[in-house]
Amino acid sequence: MAYLSIRNVEITYKNHKTGKDFLALSGVSLDVEKGEFVTIVGPSGCGKSTLLLSIDGLLPHTGGEILIDGKPVTKPGKDRALVFQEFALLPWRTIEQNIWFGLELQGEKKEKLQSAADRFLKLTGLAQFKDHFPHQLSGGMRQRVGIARALAVDPDILLMDEPFGALDAQTREIMQNELLKIWDENRKTVFFVTHGIDESIYLADKIVVMSARPGTVKEIIDVKLPRP
Ligand code: ADP
Ligand code: ADP
Repeated sequence: MAYLSIRNVEITYKNHKTGKDFLALSGVSLDVEKGEFVTIVGPSGCGKSTLLLSIDGLLPHTGGEILIDGKPVTKPGKDRALVFQEFALLPWRTIEQNIWFGLELQGEKKEKLQSAADRFLKLTGLAQFKDHFPHQLSGGMRQRVGIARALAVDPDILLMDEPFGALDAQTREIMQNELLKIWDENRKTVFFVTHGIDESIYLADKIVVMSARPGTVKEIIDVKLPRP
């Protein structure tokens, strides 16, 4: 059985005001192996974010099943971490303290926080900015902090929702290469939602193409190009 298996998943958003439910995903099936880099593409509104949130467990699926190592996903867990476009950094904390945050929530000791922060500050080229606050950094830098914070909790699965969507083309290219470098060193299983077909082909082992009304998987393309 595949490491991560999504079987016939359905997601219905309930609208309590109008009573009209909205079927966002229907019959979504997908198998992913450990360490694969999966990109998810498709038109706006086809359910890419919905799929990501359901793999995280933040959004309960209303049909089908999602299995990780054979175990059903029912809620968020330590094995998964989300990275958003809006990075969601805590403005009153320094960069270093932001990277600690997830580990702190897990009740880890100070030494563990420090060693993880050091490692990921270095890996993401942020060491000299560790005592800065998020508003003092550029968008690209803040996105690095978001990635460092997600990696610091050492998840098996990294769920990224258009993480580079707000960056200019040049910074995006730099970040793509950094992400590949980090991925090469850690071999996390990555789900990466993007609007960019180029970005998708550049990063992916596997491209999941979705279509809308309701959201379904239209095609799964194996890419596995040689990497830089
Ligand atoms: P994508 O990420 O591909 O743009 P989303 O997963 O955000 O798509 O949304 C899929 C569909 O579900 C869209 O039609 C969107 O309007 C709808 N949707 C998203 N979130 C909610 C919600 N909380 N309640 C109702 N409908 C939602
Ligand atoms: P900790 O409690 O571990 O020091 P937090 O980041 O949770 O770290 O909180 C740091 C301080 O910021 C706390 O005093 C908290 O009350 C305050 N704080 C909480 N939410 C906000 C916010 N939205 N804006 C500014 N300060 C906040």
